[in-house]
Amino acid sequence: MEKTDVLIIGGGVAGLTVAKFLAEEGIDYILLEEHDDFFKKACGEGVTPFLGNYAFFDLYESKKGIENVAEGSIISTKYGAMEYPLPNIICDKREMEAELARQATKKGGEIRMNTKCEDIAGNVALPQEIKFKICVGADGIHSFIRKKLGIKNPDLGVGMYGITEEIDKERNKCYIEFKKEVIPYGYSWYFPKKDEWNIGIGTTRVEYFKEYSQKFKEMHSNEIKWNGSFLPVSKPLKPYSKNFALVGDAASHVIALLGDGILPSMICAKILADVIIKFAKNDYRNIDFSIYEERLKKEIYKHFLEGYRAYKILSSIWFSEYLFHVFLKIMNRMAKKQISAGAGI
Ligand SMILES: Cc1cc2nc3c(=O)[nH]c(=O)nc-3n(C[C@H](O)[C@H](O)[C@H](O)COP(=O)(O)OP(=O)(O)OC[C@H]3O[C@@H](n4cnc5c(N)ncnc54)[C@H](O)[C@@H]3O)c2cc1C
Repeated sequence: MEKTDVLIIGGGVAGLTVAKFLAEEGIDYILLEEHDDFFKKACGEGVTPFLGNYAFFDLYESKKGIENVAEGSIISTKYGAMEYPLPNIICDKREMEAELARQATKKGGEIRMNTKCEDIAGNVALPQEIKFKICVGADGIHSFIRKKLGIKNPDLGVGMYGITEEIDKERNKCYIEFKKEVIPYGYSWYFPKKDEWNIGIGTTRVEYFKEYSQKFKEMHSNEIKWNGSFLPVSKPLKPYSKNFALVGDAASHVIALLGDGILPSMICAKILADVIIKFAKNDYRNIDFSIYEERLKKEIYKHFLEGYRAYKILSSIWFSEYLFHVFLKIMNRMAKKQISAGAGI
C-alpha cells in the first residue's frame, strides 16, 4: 500500500496553499484533485489585499495571474452610491491556482489531478489505497470529509459569474450593487479584469436564485457563458477531528457579508500548514488539531464573526431598502475610519 504523511483532498486555493507551505518545509504530502484542471467552481476572482495581520502577496509570493488592482469599490443601492477606498486585486483564478500548484510541486510535493477520493476507511483513502498520518479536507463546500467527521453542514448561498468585455464602467474600480430588483438578499458585482470583466450575482436565499439569475442573464449579452456554485455563509465550523483537519469552504472559512473566501482560505491554510509542520518535527506523535482551532480563533475568527454578524443584520433589514442603505452607509463610514487609521479590515 502507498503511504504518505499528509493527504490533502482538494486542489482549490485552500488545498493548494496548504501544499505550497508544506512543500517549503519538505513535508511528505500527496494532494488529490478530482478535476483535470483548476478553477472549476464559480468565483468573482476579487481578492482583498489584506485581512488582519496577513497580506495576500505575502502568502501568494507571485504576480502570476494578477490581472488588475482596482483602487477601490463603488457600492450602490437604489438610494445612492458610496465609495469604499480599499483596493481590490482581480485575478485569473485558474492561473493563480496553477501557480500555487507550481510552487507546491517545485519543491518536491505531489499533486494528482483527475483523481477523486471516494471514501476514507480508517487512515486509508479509497479507491487509491493511500495510507496517511494526517488528512486535510480541502474538498470545498460539499466536503465529504466534513460529512465523514460528522461536522454539520454550513448554510448555503449561491452565485454565478460570467466573463464579458461589454461593460461600460471605469476600469479602476469594482462595482457592487445591492438592489432588490436585481437580486434580493445578495448583490451583483462588476470586477474589472485585464481586458474583460468578471460579472455576476449571489444571494443567501437560494429560492430567489433561479428567477433572478435568469433576469440577470437577460440583462447581458447572450454570448456570456455562466457558471454557478454554492458558497458557505455560516460562522466557521469545527475544523478538525482526531487526525483530520478541514480548511477553506469545507470549514466555512469565508467572510459571509460578501462571500470572500480566497484570502481567508489562504490564511487558514497557512495556519494549518504551520501546525502540521510542528507535528512533523515530532514525527506526527500526539497530533492535536485543537492547536489549529486556537490559532484560527486568535488570528482570524474575529473577521469571520464580524462579517457574519454584519451579514445577519443586513439580511434582517432587507425588507426596507432604505434602512439597508443607511446601515450600509454607517458600516462603510466605520470601515473607512479603520482603513485611514491603518487598522486594516
Ligand atoms: C459565485 C461565487 C463567487 C465568489 N466570488 C469570490 C470573490 O470574488 N472573492 C473571494 O475571495 N471569494 C469568492 N468566492 C468564494 C471563493 O471562491 C471560495 O471561498 C474559495 O475558492 C474556496 O476555496 P476552496 O479551496 O476551499 O474550495 P474549492 O475552490 O471549491 O476547491 C475544492 C476542490 O476540491 C476538489 N474536490 C472536492 N471533492 C473532492 C474529492 N472527493 N476528491 C478530490 N478532489 C475533490 C474540487 O474539485 C475542488 O477543486 C465566490 C464563491 C462563489 C460561489
